[in-house]
Amino acid sequence: MVVVRLTEVKKETVELTERKYNYMGDAIALAVRACTLTALDLEEIGDTTTVAEVDQSLRQLLDAQHQLEVEERLLTSLCSSSEHEDPESVYMKEWEKDSKKYAALGEAAKYGANKEYCEFRQQVWNVKHEGETMPPLFGAGGNDSDEELTIAGARRTYKCPITTTWLVDPVTSKTCKHSFSKQAITDYLRAKGGRGACPVGGCSRVLNREDLAADPALERNVARRLRQLEAEESSATYTMVQ
Ligand SMILES: [Zn+2]
Repeated sequence: MVVVRLTEVKKETVELTERKYNYMGDAIALAVRACTLTALDLEEIGDTTTVAEVDQSLRQLLDAQHQLEVEERLLTSLCSSSEHEDPESVYMKEWEKDSKKYAALGEAAKYGANKEYCEFRQQVWNVKHEGETMPPLFGAGGNDSDEELTIAGARRTYKCPITTTWLVDPVTSKTCKHSFSKQAITDYLRAKGGRGACPVGGCSRVLNREDLAADPALERNVARRLRQLEAEESSATYTMVQ
């Protein structure tokens, strides 16, 4: 009887832990998005000092996210595994071990391999360098992940490879990071029966509808670029009239 009740308590604790961490994880994800959108606006007006401050804030958020993941993993495994003599000291020991390990990591290991951070830097880069390859974030060789290097070095344009016109409701593939106008890629995949080769020349990935996610930051960058072009055009007209 006692055993059954203990198991129930544990189950509740695990569920509570998961709910709590999901909630905090969502809050961090929202803050990361807010950082990105803010940095894009600041980059557009050329306030690089404040962009650097937002960059620092983002790194702190990613540190917090890491801590949260470690805590969640430790607590969940403590709650669901068989009896520990002293769960608290097991927890503290593991926690300290991981904290030391993380603190010893360099910037490249902490952030250069972090997908969200690389995406952030890429988006900020795109504001002023559309179509240009972003230099490696932490120097050459600072990143040991091939996939992340590809993302960091990806060339991004604001035109859909299918329609060859400006991206409309852009979606980005989670597997190859190529972006498309939502309607165009949806039609393309539907014609292929739900999945097909990435339409970008030289990309060998196969795309599924589930691999495509809305890309609000890219959408903003497209809108920004269009505003820039419009401003350039109207000032050109103005000069001509003059
Ligand atoms: Zn692709």
